[in-house]
Amino acid sequence: MSTTTRLSGRRLPILMYHSISDTQPDPNQICVSPKRFAEQLAWLNHHGYRGVSMVEFLDADAHGRGERLVGMTFDDGYDDFRTNAVPLLNDAGFTATVFVISDRLGGENEWDDEPRLRLMDAAGVREVAQRGMEIGCHSSSHARLLSVDDEHRVHEMVDSRAALKEIVGVDVQGFAYPYGDADESVAAIAKDAGYGYACATKPGNPASPWLLPRRFVGERDGGMRLRLKLALAGR
Ligand SMILES: [Zn+2]
Repeated sequence: MSTTTRLSGRRLPILMYHSISDTQPDPNQICVSPKRFAEQLAWLNHHGYRGVSMVEFLDADAHGRGERLVGMTFDDGYDDFRTNAVPLLNDAGFTATVFVISDRLGGENEWDDEPRLRLMDAAGVREVAQRGMEIGCHSSSHARLLSVDDEHRVHEMVDSRAALKEIVGVDVQGFAYPYGDADESVAAIAKDAGYGYACATKPGNPASPWLLPRRFVGERDGGMRLRLKLALAGR
């Protein structure tokens, strides 16, 4: 991949999750219960879709093989990705990308109010990589990139990539902008930093591998709503 990432020109359905846990209260709707998540995976399977990591998805798409694939992404790197999501993904034969925060491994989501959730530590990140998941970068500290100066942006996007490479032992291809906070200027830094792609939220820019739009998935998303979100994302 690296900077030669090509897109087929189709809009790509990319789903965005955070925590897979039974957590209440959840005012920001960042948690999907394991039961609901299992239902969503079963629905995708039943309708002939396969959920895959972003590197797998973009590679297949570039070779015209992405038709029945859905990008599965998880922001922040919660420890419940390891304990709850990965076993269900493995059972379904799916893969996914988890975007972790290099300076906060083993910590908590202090940038949010409630609920307080634990983040994977370095050993956890290596474990999920060994279990077939792609490790992406979600900045050094979860800063709002549009609110900080260029030097700080470089720390959040370049230093974090190097730190994660040390931990995982392979090049980190993907970046996800904290809060979906992105524009062409930060997308240019992502490209220069050597990322092959970067995920925004909506609207993003479907024509740019460094501003890929994603669809939020929450606890309320049963089959009908999932179908609608995939349709809106081009499926
Ligand atoms: Zn985040």
